[in-house]
Amino acid sequence: SDGRAQREIPFAQPGSLTKVYAVASGKGGVGKSSVTVNLALALAKEGLKVGIVDADIYGHSVPAMLGIADARPTQVDDLIMPVPTASGVSVISIGMLKPRRDQVVAWRGPMLDRALVQMLADVYWGDLDALLLDLPPGTGDVAISLGQHLPSAEVIVVTTPQEAAAEVAERAGTMASMMHQRVIGVVENMSYLPCPHCPAEDDHRLEVFGSGGGARVAKTLSDRFGYDVPVLASIPLDISLREGGDVGKPIVEADPAAPAARELTRVAQTL
Ligand code: ADP
Repeated sequence: SDGRAQREIPFAQPGSLTKVYAVASGKGGVGKSSVTVNLALALAKEGLKVGIVDADIYGHSVPAMLGIADARPTQVDDLIMPVPTASGVSVISIGMLKPRRDQVVAWRGPMLDRALVQMLADVYWGDLDALLLDLPPGTGDVAISLGQHLPSAEVIVVTTPQEAAAEVAERAGTMASMMHQRVIGVVENMSYLPCPHCPAEDDHRLEVFGSGGGARVAKTLSDRFGYDVPVLASIPLDISLREGGDVGKPIVEADPAAPAARELTRVAQTL
């Protein structure tokens, strides 16, 4: 240790006015990061001051999705300045804490815990209305650390309709509850593909990943916790959602009228 007292996490202080949302999933590739960045941008559009902590050690794809892949945070005295996006969302990513960009994050529990606390306490966040955390998939060290340091964080569970994804998503939700965090809802992503060959008014949906995963996770968690865990949204597969992430301009900004974008915006309005 360098002998300095650890700075306190502002969001954990009583009276903190920042709502903290942790976005969790059972496995990777279900759209957790896409949901995180689009919710953040939708909240910012409503005029809120929003920050994102990208704590996904495996993916850390948030900066690329927001078009700031090469940005590095600056340091002022011993505070880290988060990177602002064009839309004014402040971002810090675990990938930005690595000495080299191509380095793999091969950290164990205590290092990950330090990194998480650093991103929460040593970053100059200012007065945020909302902070969103993109967690790694599963029930690992980062989720446990977050539960210990920030039990007041509310958890959003992302799943696809698929049985196997739902089962592991339930575990991620249960883990959050064991850490005394409240699970506020389930987002089902990749719910269906609007048939590209039918007239839109037919609303013919191809259930590429089956159906029912979101409802299943919501019911299991509601029964288990004894409070209502609703399905907050069913987001369709949409090429422009994927493209928006690839080019750093998420769909709620690039194509706000698309059904997927409207669904994400609607979720943000319930937060
Ligand atoms: P996770 O964070 O769960 O690993 P990502 O958000 O990185 O998942 O999504 C994985 C990939 O799937 C990304 O390329 C993303 O653009 C794409 N994707 C996510 N949701 C959708 C969707 N509803 N429609 C089309 N592509 C999607």
